[in-house]
Amino acid sequence: MKECIFCKIISKEVPSKGVYEDELVYAFHDINPVAPVHILIVPKKHIFGVQSLEPEDEPIVGHIFYVARRLGEELGLIKGEDLKGGYRLVFNVGEDAGQSVFHLHLHLIGGRKMAWPPG
Ligand code: AMP
Repeated sequence: MKECIFCKIISKEVPSKGVYEDELVYAFHDINPVAPVHILIVPKKHIFGVQSLEPEDEPIVGHIFYVARRLGEELGLIKGEDLKGGYRLVFNVGEDAGQSVFHLHLHLIGGRKMAWPPG
């Protein structure tokens, strides 16, 4: 997608602060963090959002969650054998939920106590 900001980040046309990359996904720091840790985990394939997922995308979505689990540990948000700590994982789906970039991305947010319900 020529005009997609996340496609440009994945292709390194637009700079970002990467934290993880493999053949399926790229993870980088959100430019406007809402917490001490705010990472976006993005599939390299351009997918509009959860609202357009196809059956063939299921392995990518599962992989995104596994990368989140690994990053949560590596970034120190989950600690020890009893898995203490925590973080929040968010997909904003559509404009009403606050989605502003229409390339699927999982927010990994942590480093502070979270409130519930979200705004
Ligand atoms: P959403 O509102 O769920 O679509 O999330 C989009 C996120 O992308 C927001 O948290 C933005 O701060 C973030 N974002 C937009 N442009 C960039 C960029 N160039 N680099 C890093 N994060 C970005």
